[in-house]
Amino acid sequence: MEMIKMPHNWNASVRRVMKAISGSKRIDKVPYLPLAGEDTLARISGKTVRELLDSPELYAKAAIDSYEFLQSDFVSIPTAYTGPAEALAFAEFNSKADAIEWYDYKIFMLQQGEVCKTKSDIENLIIPDHSKSKLWVNLFEAAKIIQQEINYPQNCILGLWGVVQELRGIQAYRDMRRDPELLLKLCEKIYESLLDLYYYSVDILGKPNFITIVGYAFNKHMMSFEDAMKYEGDFIKRLQKEIKIPLILHNCGTTPYFEEICNEIDFIGVNGSHPLDIQYWIEFQKKFPKVAILGANIDVSRELFYGTPQDVEEKVKENILNLAPNGRYICSPVCSIPWGVSLLNMMAIPRGINKYGKEPFKLKKNE
Ligand SMILES: [Zn+2]
Repeated sequence: MEMIKMPHNWNASVRRVMKAISGSKRIDKVPYLPLAGEDTLARISGKTVRELLDSPELYAKAAIDSYEFLQSDFVSIPTAYTGPAEALAFAEFNSKADAIEWYDYKIFMLQQGEVCKTKSDIENLIIPDHSKSKLWVNLFEAAKIIQQEINYPQNCILGLWGVVQELRGIQAYRDMRRDPELLLKLCEKIYESLLDLYYYSVDILGKPNFITIVGYAFNKHMMSFEDAMKYEGDFIKRLQKEIKIPLILHNCGTTPYFEEICNEIDFIGVNGSHPLDIQYWIEFQKKFPKVAILGANIDVSRELFYGTPQDVEEKVKENILNLAPNGRYICSPVCSIPWGVSLLNMMAIPRGINKYGKEPFKLKKNE
C-alpha cells in the first residue's frame, strides 16, 4: 500500500480523455471511466441522496471526492441525466409529484407509467421548463462548481426511450402495436423537453465538447431495430442536426445493437459491457476504427460483483491488451457500480490500468 496520497491531477485526466477519444498516439495511459451513481457518492461521502440533491456545494464536493477516491479520469453529477431526474421534472410540471418515491441512499424513483397513464395525459402533457425545476437548477449549479473547482468540463446526458418508459411504463410496448401515433406524440414531447434541457445546460455550463446519449431502445430483447430507430434513433439524428455536438452512445443492455446503430448514426464512441465476448469488440474496432470504445466487456454484475480482485485485474488486462494498442479505448466498467461491489474489486481496475495500460500505443497486441 502506498502511504502518500498524490493530489489528483484533473488537468492530466481531461487531456487523457480527449486524446483517447481523438485517437492521439501521444497518450500516457488508458483513461478510466467508472460510472458512480448516487448510491456510490452517498456511500463514499456519508451524505444522504436528498442532502446531496438539496445542496449544489455538497453534491459537487461529494462527486469530486468520490471520483478522486476511485482514481477516475472522469467526474460528473450522475443525476444530471435524462432518466429519473427528467421523469421527476415531468411529474412536477404535470402535478404528479406524489408518484415519486424518495430514498436515503439511492436515487428517487417514479412509479413507472403514472405520469402518462391515459391518452389525454399524453395529449395534455406539459413540457418542463428546466430553469424552473429546483432539482435541475441544483444539478447544473453543482456541475458548474465542479467546472470552476477543478476545471473539468461538465454537461448533461440525454436519452429519450428511458424517459418514455418512466412516463408511460409497460404500456409503451403495447402502444407500438396499437397506437404508434400516440407513442410518437409522446416521443415528440420528450424530444422537445430534451432540447429545453440541453439549451439550459449550455446557458449554465457552456457548449460541451461532446454529449453522451443513453440509448436504451437499442437492445434486441426490447424491440426490433426498425422500432428502435423509429422511437429513438430518428430523434438522435434530429438532435445531432440541431445541436451539432459529437455524440457518445451509452447502452448498458445485454443485447445491444451497437454495430447496426453505428451504421446508421455517427457516434464518436460507444459505452457498454455486452456482448461479453472480447472477439466481438476486436471485430467492432476493425469495422469502426474511428469509434472509441468505452468499456467493451467489463460488466459490473460479473467479475466486479462475484470475482476476486485478481479476476477484475485479468478482465482489465484482456480489454487493454486487445483494444488499447489501436487507440480510442477507455477502460470502463458498465453500468453504474452497484452497492455491494467490494472496494477491493473496485480498486483493482485502476491498479490493472497502471499495470497494463501505460503508453498504450507501445503495447504489443495479445494474439
Ligand atoms: Zn446504463
